[in-house]
Amino acid sequence: MQGVGFRPFVYRNAVALGLSGHVYNDNQGVLVEVEGPAPAVAELCRVVTEAPPPLSRVDAVEATELAPTGRDLGFVIRTSADEGPAAVPVSVDTGTCDDCLADIRDRANRRYRYPFTNCTNCGPRYTIVRSVPYDRPTTTMATFTMCDDCQREYDDPADRRFHAQPNACPACGPRLLLWTSTGQRLAEGDEALRRGTRMLAEGRVLAVKGIGGFHLATDATSEDAVAELRRRKARDEKPFAVMVPDLEAARRLCLLDAATEAALASPRRPIVLAPRRPGAAVATGVAPGLPELGLLLPYSPLHHLLLEEVGRPLVMTSGNRSDEPIAHDDSDAFDRLGPLVDALLTHDRAIHIRCDDTVLRRTPARLQLVRRSRGYAPEPLPLPTSAHRQVLAVGAELKNTVAVAKDTMVVASHHLGDLEHPATSSAFLQAIHHLCHLYGVTPEVVAHDLHPEYLSTKWALDADLPTLAVQHHHAHVASCLAEHEFVGPVLGVAFDGLGLGLDGTLWGGEFLVADLSRFTRVGHLRALPLPGGAAAIRQPWRMALAWVNESMGHDDAALVGPELDERWPAVLGLVRSGGPHAPLTTSAGRLFDAVSALLGVRRTVSYEGQAAIELEALARTVPLEQAPVYGTLEVDRSEGMAVLDPRPLVARVVEERRLGAPAPVVAAGFHRALGEATVELAASLAHEHGLDTVALSGGVFQNARLTDVVEEGLRGRGLTVLVHSAVPPNDGGISIGQAAVAALGNHQG
Ligand code: ZN
Ligand code: ZN
Ligand code: FE
Repeated sequence: MQGVGFRPFVYRNAVALGLSGHVYNDNQGVLVEVEGPAPAVAELCRVVTEAPPPLSRVDAVEATELAPTGRDLGFVIRTSADEGPAAVPVSVDTGTCDDCLADIRDRANRRYRYPFTNCTNCGPRYTIVRSVPYDRPTTTMATFTMCDDCQREYDDPADRRFHAQPNACPACGPRLLLWTSTGQRLAEGDEALRRGTRMLAEGRVLAVKGIGGFHLATDATSEDAVAELRRRKARDEKPFAVMVPDLEAARRLCLLDAATEAALASPRRPIVLAPRRPGAAVATGVAPGLPELGLLLPYSPLHHLLLEEVGRPLVMTSGNRSDEPIAHDDSDAFDRLGPLVDALLTHDRAIHIRCDDTVLRRTPARLQLVRRSRGYAPEPLPLPTSAHRQVLAVGAELKNTVAVAKDTMVVASHHLGDLEHPATSSAFLQAIHHLCHLYGVTPEVVAHDLHPEYLSTKWALDADLPTLAVQHHHAHVASCLAEHEFVGPVLGVAFDGLGLGLDGTLWGGEFLVADLSRFTRVGHLRALPLPGGAAAIRQPWRMALAWVNESMGHDDAALVGPELDERWPAVLGLVRSGGPHAPLTTSAGRLFDAVSALLGVRRTVSYEGQAAIELEALARTVPLEQAPVYGTLEVDRSEGMAVLDPRPLVARVVEERRLGAPAPVVAAGFHRALGEATVELAASLAHEHGLDTVALSGGVFQNARLTDVVEEGLRGRGLTVLVHSAVPPNDGGISIGQAAVAALGNHQG
């Protein structure tokens, strides 16, 4: 991998051991030829194997004996001019290393308090690369000419900054700028930092330009500051991420185990959602109604300096308004964020690729990626077998990512967002171009979703290349297979929001017999009308009404209706008449929405999935063993298809509420019953089809309680269960599944 300092590392060790020879990258990896005393050669092998540089990944070390030349010509690093195209052209963006941190804290160091300090072990990479090979002129650092001191470091193989492309110092590198929201310059350099810090300490809201884009920052402990930020960001209730200076501060806010701490402190620096401590000292408005907090540690020198000086946790939320893409260039930031902030703390190093923070969630069973972006993209994932052809996969519509596949790898882009926003669609085009260019992929086929209205599908069909439509839930299951480097077949359980099915209805509660070539739908949740189509996503009460009508009939629906929403008569009419405004759906996500609304948790939502997330949180307040048993669901097999019927369960939920059962208990009972019914059906379908492995995918499997019940139940029946952790179970993983199907599957024609 370039930019991780592997060759200089070998150089330093070889020189120290008195070995002669050379090191270079070829497209397979790093090749070292050395000559010298046998113990020194053995020691070099040991160091490379056991103590490689922090950002590198050593998959294997092979050693071969060569005839000695008898000449000592010293040790050299052969330059990239000798090399073929690299398998991994650019590393991920990496959090500031301890050595650089020491530099910026050392008064005597020329980089004291310099916010753009970096070295071969840390700093921006993917977000500053315009082209390959990765070299200073192909990055957004090209406009800065290194001073003599920086150049000397850059040229010295023994220096930590040897060939560190973003190398910079206060004399020659980027500088900070502080602006008013209307674009008047207030200060620059260290003065900008001091004034910006002071504003944050006073509870103001700042837009702060980081590595992959702008954050909106404010004092996370101030009720007023957080409420003001929320007000300015518009109605959205999405939780804000909180940046803390170090692990000790993180421990004061959340309950952290060793694995969670390791993830937080890793150089990838993701946001980690972890259970919050009772009474954690952050404002209520940070994560309203949620038992978890999204924490992250500083990942640029600027973050470290801000956090140290403000001395309080800071909200660091994406610099955008509700669902829009994060702002990453300065003029866009002034346009879109100016009205939301008191000042903008920017800098003059351009961000070439917008890259949101990655989000991981700590569940009882695992750390799961929910959004795979900065620090992870564009790192390739291995494929289970070699690709038949070079593939571009364009993903779904929401939480879009794109991916390319070739040889034995699939490379997914950073998180792009919801394609309905014009700014997202331009990021979508940029990501396609960039990934193909970086990895030298000339797509022979474009894989896309079945849904004709997705912008990604439309783009694929216009691309003038052979195309392959991959059904949404097949792609989900395939993404899980790809993550586990498994070709199948498996029994795939795909529970999510909505995806277009082969029969033209909206699927989302699916049992598929699938491998990477094909799938057969063998079961699903019972279908019912989705009243108002997309409106039902924002208004879970609509699904509640539809499910009560389906389960208990019109009279009960009319009884429940007035509690749900005053518009209930019109919506009940829509449910009962069917037609184009109430398409059929088998969605599991919408069933969770319905129950959430019935329990009074969420009748309308401000972001997709909110109702289900809050329902899960409620259910998890009741230990699983104490969850009531509501009986198993029936399965209708009359038409050659196993139809799982939640009607008795929905009726029970309504009954329990009428009898006054507490909402958390009913939520726990619902999770348990649906989970156990899923286990029953998946196990029997796996058995019928001679399968011993079940893959769980789709956004609903972000639900930790449901996943726990299903996973444990299936394991208890001797089945192997594949669950996501390195690929998001939600639509962010769809491009990876599409790419795996198109690259590895056998498709006729
Ligand atoms: Zn460093
Ligand atoms: Zn310099
Ligand atoms: Fe989906």
